Amino acid sequence: MGKTFFTTPGGKKLITVIPGDGIGPEVVRSAQQIIEARGVPIEWEERYAGESVFKMGVPSGVLPETIESIRKTRVVLKGPLGTPIGYGEKSANVTLRKLFETYGNIRPVRELPGVPTPFSGRGIDLVVVRENTEDLYAGIEYMLTPGVAECLKLISRKGSEKIVRLAFEFARSERRKKVHCATKSNIMKMTEGTLKRTFEAIAPEYPDIEAQHIIIDNCAHQLVRHPEQFDVIVTTNMNGDILSDLTSGLIGGLGFAPSANIGSEVSIFEAVHGSAPKYAGKNTINPTALIMSAVMMLRHLDEYEAALDIEHAVLVTMESGVRTRDTLGDEGAVSTSVFTDTIIKNLGKRATNWSVRDYRPLQLPTFSTDPDWVHVTTRRTVGVDVFLESSLDAETLGHSLEQLAEGTALQLKLISNRGTKVYQPTGAMTDCIDQWSCRFMLADAQGDLTDAQLFTLLQHINSQHSFVSIVKLQDFDGQPGYTKSQGED
Ligand code: NAP
Repeated sequence: MGKTFFTTPGGKKLITVIPGDGIGPEVVRSAQQIIEARGVPIEWEERYAGESVFKMGVPSGVLPETIESIRKTRVVLKGPLGTPIGYGEKSANVTLRKLFETYGNIRPVRELPGVPTPFSGRGIDLVVVRENTEDLYAGIEYMLTPGVAECLKLISRKGSEKIVRLAFEFARSERRKKVHCATKSNIMKMTEGTLKRTFEAIAPEYPDIEAQHIIIDNCAHQLVRHPEQFDVIVTTNMNGDILSDLTSGLIGGLGFAPSANIGSEVSIFEAVHGSAPKYAGKNTINPTALIMSAVMMLRHLDEYEAALDIEHAVLVTMESGVRTRDTLGDEGAVSTSVFTDTIIKNLGKRATNWSVRDYRPLQLPTFSTDPDWVHVTTRRTVGVDVFLESSLDAETLGHSLEQLAEGTALQLKLISNRGTKVYQPTGAMTDCIDQWSCRFMLADAQGDLTDAQLFTLLQHINSQHSFVSIVKLQDFDGQPGYTKSQGED
């Protein structure tokens, strides 16, 4: 594995370009014009995804020829994609990220000349490295009852290891000194805790980089109070989504926030912002985010000199006071095309008061494709959580389930409602809903629950109640692989 590019017979690197929706074509064209003016051995293969494709009746929003092109080129410059209301259940963006396993989303922000913010002068220059394929974003959702929705938060050791290694390698490539891991592991000990534990296990392999865990809510607070303390922040998908919009806000808004979706085989470069449809075709929006995403792409392609030239030309342009409407308002702002032309005119110049980092090639980590990532010596099924839909009260349901479990290998341990133990009663003032989690444990504390024993219990329960789902409770190497309810002993 590692970086693979498709080179044309003329010796140019072939890049799939997706103009996207709304303001997408304007910002993508701006970046292409600058790259072409600089002279970089790149050829574009234009392909489509997003609104126009949904409207053609393609449910994924991504055309087969787009997928074919990306499989070939492995590198994409992409405009934002919209999901028109009434078309497609899934975002075409998420589809592309998952289809090509771009597991890491790198979102840098830095203070820029002439973009006044409450933080100006503090030298903000940080990167959010967001896990890009797992977590709540896997989009596995169920209505368990007509009034109760569930979304599975899946975090794997493998996914965590990939994103943590990418964060450390990226820090090294940008000669950064510190990586924070931001999680909510104090509450979600298994899911968010997996990222924290993986981070702590891997950090010693990078002794040149300071590693520190931070609780995600404190991270948000610290980012607003003392953003200059951060260098790289690695985090889970949902946390990263929210934090990276916050960090965009620190430096002047979404018009300045680039990103790279990095995978072992394919990488997709795009602005953090969306298609901002109200500005489409108006020639007023800020193309900097997409231009800087293209600069990240050039470094990925090992075109370091071109990337340096374009980054300096952007800085020189902004130093000279030429800016778009989002920074200046209507007074004195230039159009998207004038902004682009000014950057082109400034190619070859160097910013006087603003520096550009000294980059080293990113060493993409390599991973086994073995799905069985964690091996344990012993495992035992010790019980089961049965999720029931019932309009009974906790006590009536509890007595009923105790009786139904008689004669089976399992005993009712407790019932919880929205995560709080409600049976046996604890005095908690829980406002119960019609979805109950009923925990049954093996009567034999040393036993290993068989499926036959489980099915017997479910048959007994189903004679009077309706179960909507079950989860086995397992011990791995003697450690419980499940959490306790609030109030559970
Ligand atoms: P958005 O398109 O990012 O726009 C939100 C606001 O951010 C705009 O109204 C504008 O603020 C500002 N903005 C964004 N890009 C700008 C730019 N280049 N220059 C100047 N200002 C900019 O978010 P949205 O309106 O929530 O989403 C619109 C569509 O985009 C949705 O269909 C969404 O699903 C999609 N989307 C796609 C991606 C992607 O493709 N990666 C990402 C996010 C959203 P003001 O109104 O204050 O001027």
